[in-house]
Amino acid sequence: MASLADAGLKFTTLPHPAPASDEAREAVLANPGFGTNFTDHMVVIEWSEGADGVGGWHDAVIGPRQPIALDPAAAVLHYAQEIFEGLKAYKQADGSIALFRPEANAARFNHSAERLAMPSLPEELFVEAVERLVQIDRAWIPEAEGASLYLRPFMIATEAFLGVRPAKQYKFIVIASPAGNYFKSGAPAVSIWVSDYTRAAPGGTGAAKCGGNYAASLVPQSEAMARGHDQVVFLDAAEHKWIEELGGMNLYFSFEDGTLLTPALTGTILPGITRDSLLTLAREEGLNVVEGRYSLDQWRADAASGKLIEAFACGTAAVVTPVGRVAGRDGEFTIGSGGPGQLTQKLKNRLVSIQRGEAADTHGWIRKI
Ligand code: PMP
Repeated sequence: MASLADAGLKFTTLPHPAPASDEAREAVLANPGFGTNFTDHMVVIEWSEGADGVGGWHDAVIGPRQPIALDPAAAVLHYAQEIFEGLKAYKQADGSIALFRPEANAARFNHSAERLAMPSLPEELFVEAVERLVQIDRAWIPEAEGASLYLRPFMIATEAFLGVRPAKQYKFIVIASPAGNYFKSGAPAVSIWVSDYTRAAPGGTGAAKCGGNYAASLVPQSEAMARGHDQVVFLDAAEHKWIEELGGMNLYFSFEDGTLLTPALTGTILPGITRDSLLTLAREEGLNVVEGRYSLDQWRADAASGKLIEAFACGTAAVVTPVGRVAGRDGEFTIGSGGPGQLTQKLKNRLVSIQRGEAADTHGWIRKI
């Protein structure tokens, strides 16, 4: 649906009348937390469909971060036509700034757009928008270990129309938030709760990064936390037997025979970019990497027999996080020692050192700004 002219869109830069003071910014950077503090600017690009039924992106603006005006009938507010992405900008060992695989986020964004009947955004425009925001807000990138600038590109349906059909107007927006460690406790291993709820069904939107999936995960996540766990793990909808993923992370299982298994992308799991990167890194480590099915019963049995030595979750926000304990209606079990395992730590270190520019980027994953 996007017009060919989209890729050559010119950005207008609006000056910020009152950016945060150096003191205010330094205070945030000293203790960034996750998702509560934001940088000075944002990017907004509009999409609309003309009378001829042809749509296109226009009016690309980078300016002060501020509230957006929406008509109360805006389609996103009623039928949740919304998608988003999450990626990070890292300070490199040499002081420069880099994004990690932004093209992969751009591609996933368009897959999500397609599933939600939204217009696609040229990948180079997605990456340019993110790069421009990082560039203008570069002073907001924290430098502490494990810290980064989290970027949140998203698209909403803005047309004021209450009929149920794809909207004819959208906004693509990018905002940025300095981020420290994702898990508040900084826990060395997380404890997860096996939910009775399901996240995604075959034919549904599980492989898309749309807000609705996350709205539906809030009750299961709250339940997990109320029971004293950090995260929720979802099983498949059809048999309620196979492990799928956590609320916001993919899962890996490491066995004593050198096999590393992650649930296959069946259409009900989000294709994580961290998951994909680890497939490559683990193969380079000589592991027998398998994308397949793994049941909760098998997980419990393998943890008990010692066949399973480590399990970890992975995603942009939490990077690589060991899973120590699993609990559900049928009781609970511990994986290995219940703490971080060697392979988990090794893969995490390899990934982080590439992201930080400390190891050679042999896969072309780093995009310097
Ligand atoms: N699964 C879900 C449901 C997620 O929200 C995320 C975070 N985007 C992931 C997995 C991990 O994906 P990525 O590695 O691209 O961050």
